[in-house]
Amino acid sequence: MNVIYVDNNATTKVAPEVVDAMVPYFSEYYGNPSSMHSFWGNVAVIIKEARQNLAELIGATADEIIFTSCGTESDSTAIRAAIESNPAKRHIVTTRVEHPAIKNLYENLSKHGYRVTFIPVDNFGRLDLDYLYQHLSDDTAIVSIMWANNETGVIFPIEEISHEIKRRGIVFHTDAVQAIGKIPIDVNNTGVDMLSLSGHKFHAPKGIGALYIRKGTKFSPFLIGGHQEKGRRGGTENTAAIIGLGKAAELAIKHLRENGYERIARLRDKLENQLLQKVPNTIVNGDREHRLPNTTSIAFEYVEGEAILLMMNEHAICASSGSACTSGSLEPSHVLRAMGVPFTAAHGSIRFSLSRYNSEDEIDFILEKLPPIIENLRAMSPFWKKAIGG
Ligand code: PLP
Repeated sequence: MNVIYVDNNATTKVAPEVVDAMVPYFSEYYGNPSSMHSFWGNVAVIIKEARQNLAELIGATADEIIFTSCGTESDSTAIRAAIESNPAKRHIVTTRVEHPAIKNLYENLSKHGYRVTFIPVDNFGRLDLDYLYQHLSDDTAIVSIMWANNETGVIFPIEEISHEIKRRGIVFHTDAVQAIGKIPIDVNNTGVDMLSLSGHKFHAPKGIGALYIRKGTKFSPFLIGGHQEKGRRGGTENTAAIIGLGKAAELAIKHLRENGYERIARLRDKLENQLLQKVPNTIVNGDREHRLPNTTSIAFEYVEGEAILLMMNEHAICASSGSACTSGSLEPSHVLRAMGVPFTAAHGSIRFSLSRYNSEDEIDFILEKLPPIIENLRAMSPFWKKAIGG
């Protein structure tokens, strides 16, 4: 059975071109990029090219990029650098819908004397900008706001926010892990000081990420060790993964230039619109206008998301639910709760996230299999029977 993978916000397939680019750096050019022998020239040069490609993807210069091990490390590095560089400031700001990489770090910092403001969102997942601006103060060390939400795909107005935050002289970091490669991003149009990204969300391998640090931003390393990354991140470079990230960036630039995401958005819209038509009591979570082109979070009222996932899995359809199941609980996720999605809808929320590898036939297959799954599950649901007065 062919797997239909529509869980690309969780992770993506490594592009075949990326695999091909990486292989020689395991088997042939395996030398340490810091070593002073013949390996050195080749490996160091190719890392430089990868850094250049990645910089180009976001409009940065190569020396503003450091490689890390993942998005989580990039987030931690940025936030810890900002608070270490501003030791007198004890206030930090973020949103109520961040990924755990930020949310849990902020919660941890709140136990260590930091005053944390979590900016709320409305029912469409849109940020309350007045609340944000009212809560900034001279004591604020950093504001960290994601570019796009991993569950709903809702995009925040980072350009607008960053200018306002910079006007007040506060360090601004954005977690752009879900946005990179899906929408055009140019750091020159923003006032962001630091930006996190992660390779495995745009067809590079897992275990490689990067942090953009605007020239002139006060910085201190999170991983202290060797002189790698000009002393900004210790540890021998993950050469093959860096090459893979550079190749993935090159492919993403091409894809964005060719408007490849228009096709993905069309497939996503077809899936979403037809599910809304075919299945009663179905709601899209989040602002449909300002959204990543590949993502839809759909609530099927009065059914359990986990049951839907299991039944889709029987047909080899891979998606995600809107529950915090990774934490071992079936509680609706903090994102859907922050948006005030009713319990009956949040529980039955499924996230579909597409990539350039999805085809129209796959969407048609989901549209054939999913409506009867929901119908069967509802037939067994006492909540559904009560809701329809049965
Ligand atoms: N930030 C966002 C918005 C994410 O979606 C993720 C991963 O899902 C991360 C950070 C963490 O990235 P990584 O898995 O590379 O640590």
